[in-house]
Amino acid sequence: MSHQRYDLAVVGAGTAGLEIAKNASMSGYKVCLIEQGYSEGKSYLNKIPLLSGKLLQNDKHCLSFISKKQSGLEDRELPILQGIGFGGSSLINGNVSYLGFEKRFREVFSFWPKSMFQRVKKHIYHNPNFSYNREYGYSDELTNIFCKTLNNIAVPEVTDLDNIIEGWAKIHLNIQGSKRYNFSNDFNENANHKNIEKLASTRAIKIVFKDNYASGVECENLVTKAKITVNAKKIILSAGTIFSPLILMRSGIGDPKDVCKAGAPLKFQQEHVGKHLKDHANFRIEFDCIGFDTLNQKTRGLKLFNEFFKYITSKNSIFKSPGATLAWNKSSFNKKVSINSLVRYHLVHFTQERSLLSSNGIKFQKAQRASIGCFQVFPKSEGSISLDNKNNIQIDPNYLSNKFDRALAHKAFRSGIDLLKRAGFAKSGKNLINDDIEQNIGSETFSGYHLIGTNRMSDDKNSGVVDGSFKVFGINNLYVCDASIFPDFVSTHQYLPTLAASKIFCLNQGFLSD
Ligand SMILES: Cc1cc2nc3c(=O)[nH]c(=O)nc-3n(C[C@H](O)[C@H](O)[C@H](O)COP(=O)(O)OP(=O)(O)OC[C@H]3O[C@@H](n4cnc5c(N)ncnc54)[C@H](O)[C@@H]3O)c2cc1C
Repeated sequence: MSHQRYDLAVVGAGTAGLEIAKNASMSGYKVCLIEQGYSEGKSYLNKIPLLSGKLLQNDKHCLSFISKKQSGLEDRELPILQGIGFGGSSLINGNVSYLGFEKRFREVFSFWPKSMFQRVKKHIYHNPNFSYNREYGYSDELTNIFCKTLNNIAVPEVTDLDNIIEGWAKIHLNIQGSKRYNFSNDFNENANHKNIEKLASTRAIKIVFKDNYASGVECENLVTKAKITVNAKKIILSAGTIFSPLILMRSGIGDPKDVCKAGAPLKFQQEHVGKHLKDHANFRIEFDCIGFDTLNQKTRGLKLFNEFFKYITSKNSIFKSPGATLAWNKSSFNKKVSINSLVRYHLVHFTQERSLLSSNGIKFQKAQRASIGCFQVFPKSEGSISLDNKNNIQIDPNYLSNKFDRALAHKAFRSGIDLLKRAGFAKSGKNLINDDIEQNIGSETFSGYHLIGTNRMSDDKNSGVVDGSFKVFGINNLYVCDASIFPDFVSTHQYLPTLAASKIFCLNQGFLSD
């Protein structure tokens, strides 16, 4: 293995890694794709939208971490998840599909040509080799009540919430017919697999250098414990927001304190590695909905068989849904419409004990209850990823630490309660006073699983880790392309933006053409 020299070594076969490997292999490049997991996404649970939640408790498909204590959230430690295997987080995610806001994309990536968003959008939606669909998922009577209520308060119905700051629509999913279908299917169907060596169960430890050039990746086979070095002309880190910065630190690139804890000699001082971690802090407002069967009921007893029958006969079935059915955007808090105050709400058709998510997968409660999920789309709060002295991973999203974010969370909560009342429901419990809101936000906020920012892109080497062409500042042949390069959010979700960034990387490298 160590004698062969590939054109590209791609570390991580997730959303970004698969897209890069696919395009490079189709352009004739020899690629080595290094992935710590071994699943190829062929489990039937990967195919059925509702059941993919079951994979969250299975360490073949999902690694779970516990965050550092969140001082803004009653000092709670929260589950943080990372999909593994060929497909990465795209195999276990909620499948909710939004590319985002062109205006934000242009602001966040101001150093790219203005036409970039439209160019890449065309590659996603009009790919001649792959019929990618975004479809509405499941909806029911409860959903319709909320649609009517939103109409009554003059929130407009729209066909797609991308680029809309006030409006509602049924939720968009990556499905085809009734099955999950996203760009990992594109990889399986269209990559030139002959040109890709896939190293499964293989963890990249650190980058190997020749002077200031990255020349290879030192890896460990997790089964045999054998160490190997993969040599390549270009190295691309696509290991995601948690792992890509850690690989840089273990390779001597980062803040000297972090590099020292990682046990590596300092190769290149880079203060921003592992910093600027952002996530959507997602809270839920639970409410009783007596008389309406939610997922809590429909996944039990005879109702379960009925739903499954409807699913296999392609009818509207709860199995077609990741749980949320309806989405609305609101940005007019305090009567001012501002994209900075944009909040996304989801009607979630179940209630669950979310703190057990990583250990038990999704477990629905029995009560006839649903919830409104809510998050600020462009939060300012930032945290970090690092290693401690014992090499343990420290994840600190620092949720709702920024005053603006906290105040907006309160407003969003009140507005959610108001909508519930208008729809004829009440939050479980009694009247809300300010203290209850604070306590609810403190106890009901969890990760939105949209981690970004730990290797942020910048046109200035003093404020980012990679330049506008994804190259790590100060090192030749070394690139990062995954969700970690996003300096800020461009969308309510992170899957399609990460895919867009990977397509831009491929356009830059000549692996993809217009
Ligand atoms: C539970 C969950 C639900 C989500 N729901 C949605 C949703 O509904 N809609 C949406 O748009 N987004 C959603 N997301 C977010 C979205 O899936 C991610 O933002 C996106 O997949 C990130 O892509 P990536 O390429 O950066 O990383 P990933 O897809 O996470 O891939 C990283 C890959 O690198 C591998 N890796 C890491 N370290 C190493 C190493 N040292 N050596 C070898 N391999 C390594 C990992 O095993 C993994 O396969 C969700 C995420 C999660 C976790």
